[in-house]
Amino acid sequence: MNPFENLKISNQWRDLFHIDNRQPCTNCSKSRKYFCYTCYTINSDLENIIPRLKLPLKIDIIKHSREIPGKSTAIHAALLAPEDVAIYIYPDMPTYTKNDKVILVYPGKSSISLQEFYNKAKKQKKLNNDDFDDSFSEIITHALFIDSTWSQSKGILKDPKLSGLPCIKLQIRLSQFWRHQKGSPRWFLATIEAIHQLLIEYTLVENQTHLLNNYDNILFFFRFMYEKIHQLYEHEKLMSYRRPVNI
Ligand SMILES: [Zn+2]
Repeated sequence: MNPFENLKISNQWRDLFHIDNRQPCTNCSKSRKYFCYTCYTINSDLENIIPRLKLPLKIDIIKHSREIPGKSTAIHAALLAPEDVAIYIYPDMPTYTKNDKVILVYPGKSSISLQEFYNKAKKQKKLNNDDFDDSFSEIITHALFIDSTWSQSKGILKDPKLSGLPCIKLQIRLSQFWRHQKGSPRWFLATIEAIHQLLIEYTLVENQTHLLNNYDNILFFFRFMYEKIHQLYEHEKLMSYRRPVNI
């Protein structure tokens, strides 16, 4: 079964198969196919094909400087939701104000689920009795992701700027990412899959199940690339899908 079958992803990802030419990036003029992975701009011939999303919270992504830009899926988020996604190259980091409520999405030892975090924050707000508003936007404004390999992320996590942030683990879902990473379990998601998963859980915690498919288009480029790889290689032969689920 196709893993994207139940998702509502704009069908125009199929049109990307007909794009053969590279184009100069509108910003840096380098020759690119589909998009520029250093400027986060979409090629002008794709402008009208690519869906754009508005997200319910801000997404910040810290990229490891040695992560190969063309291979990162974090860029997909910046291309598809340009108003709500920002990418930082480590050691560059986002700066937050005291009004920003930030979570770090990473499966660390002290991490809790989004639902647990939401319940705890709600309880605390009730205790403080400050103008009680339990809408999600009052509890989380920014979600921070680390875009790197399994081993690179360990270094970034030691940064003191991250140490005070509440750490959220997503529900287990199998990755469909084709890129093999030595030593990582099958549930270690590509950054774009993790962002999609967070948006699903956010919708569920808010009890807005009718909006469940609202953010599926964030996987627009991911789906296209998945299908492209699967035209070239047999699924069973791709190392990435043969990783154990748990290690
Ligand atoms: Zn460029």
